[in-house]
Amino acid sequence: MEGAPTRQGCPFHDVRQRLRRVGLRPTRQRVSLGWVLFAKGDRHVSAEMLFEEAMRERIPVSLATIYNTLRQFTDAGLLRELAIDAGKTYFDTASDDHHHFVIEDENRVIDIPGREIELTTLPTPPEGYEIAHVDVLVRLRKIGG
Ligand SMILES: [Zn+2]
Repeated sequence: MEGAPTRQGCPFHDVRQRLRRVGLRPTRQRVSLGWVLFAKGDRHVSAEMLFEEAMRERIPVSLATIYNTLRQFTDAGLLRELAIDAGKTYFDTASDDHHHFVIEDENRVIDIPGREIELTTLPTPPEGYEIAHVDVLVRLRKIGG
């Protein structure tokens, strides 16, 4: 890791470097979508959201390409997949270990700040397995809603 973590925008050449570092060829489409994804700091996007944003930026892609690209980025470790519900998947541009609030009625995911969750006991994984990572989803609803 070089320098302090920045939540600022991510110019094209940074996206190219980021792709190369994880062994993905920086095609024009990947760089464009990477720029849309990573230019706004840490956040959580669905395929549909990214598709809409790409349209707005006049990047010519299909939804199928969006799905493929998100899959490739996730497999390469650039994104963390958050399966919220059956059929509702978000991709987290912050791929480090952290936990989330899910606001159920708003279909919104937000990070739980810093160390507000402390996991003191984890279950023993079954024989032959190890814990890869732990995601805690805390589901919220509006008071009085
Ligand atoms: Zn997150």
